[in-house]
Amino acid sequence: KSFADLGVMDSLCEACESLGYKNPTPIQAEAIPVALEGRDLIGVAETGSGKTAAFALPILQALLNHKGNLAFFALVLAPTRELAYQISQQFEALGSLISVKCAVLVGGIEMMPQSVALGKKPHIVVATPGRLMDHLEKTKGFSLRNLQYLVMDEADRLLDLDFGPQLDKLFKILPREHRHTYLFSATMSSKVENLQRASLRNPAKVSI
Ligand code: AMP
Repeated sequence: KSFADLGVMDSLCEACESLGYKNPTPIQAEAIPVALEGRDLIGVAETGSGKTAAFALPILQALLNHKGNLAFFALVLAPTRELAYQISQQFEALGSLISVKCAVLVGGIEMMPQSVALGKKPHIVVATPGRLMDHLEKTKGFSLRNLQYLVMDEADRLLDLDFGPQLDKLFKILPREHRHTYLFSATMSSKVENLQRASLRNPAKVSI
């Protein structure tokens, strides 16, 4: 099957082709059609499986089809800085034809340049949870009221790194109506299942 067979729109198929993605990986083939139906998703897959594009393509497609406000359309939570930058790079590469704007919020560096990036109203925010909460408290004009998509990537590692309390805090302020949620994890533990129950609605489960 091709990306087009999965329901991916032409401009994004072209982006895949230009990145050398000839055919969808197994997790992409499973996840993309379900995500495009509008379902919440649990993806059990490891890094290297192509999981980033599995969630990025449906989000970019929704962004392209969205009629309303596109600022802060999607939030991707990642356990580490390195992963956050990798995810942002893939969004930018897949979204280059449509000029998608991303901001990366991670700890260990100054907040100010990140606040400036948020001031430009990016479509996609990729963040580690601690720094995200700092910006929600301190950066004026940054809110997640418009959020349409939430992704928790490497959820097992997010929990191992004790980001659970910050995630609980976040769920209290995120909109529930109109919000789609994707949870990706290399392993499913009871902690990950609790997180899933707290944040997803009637999810489809895809694993490879
Ligand atoms: P990920 O598991 O998302 O970290 O992706 C692992 C690597 O596979 C990344 O370098 C992607 O650019 C690449 N990749 C993702 N999807 C495909 C695909 N369909 N065909 C070839 N490479 C891909």
